[in-house]
Amino acid sequence: MGIVMIKCPQTGRAIPTGMKADREKFRCSTVFFARTYCSICQTNHEWFAKEAWVYETDERVRSVC
Ligand SMILES: [Zn+2]
Repeated sequence: MGIVMIKCPQTGRAIPTGMKADREKFRCSTVFFARTYCSICQTNHEWFAKEAWVYETDERVRSVC
């Protein structure tokens, strides 16, 4: 499991969405749309799953799909 990250469109910085996901499952999941509060801009950013990535602290290789 890891933290779903997005790139802030205003500053270009990576911000955590607060969502947790498995990297392989997230990559294979259907496209979804979400909204995350950005503490840098102090506003909500809307994003699609394809723009996000999973930052995993546990780097064990998995193959789920
Ligand atoms: Zn932002």
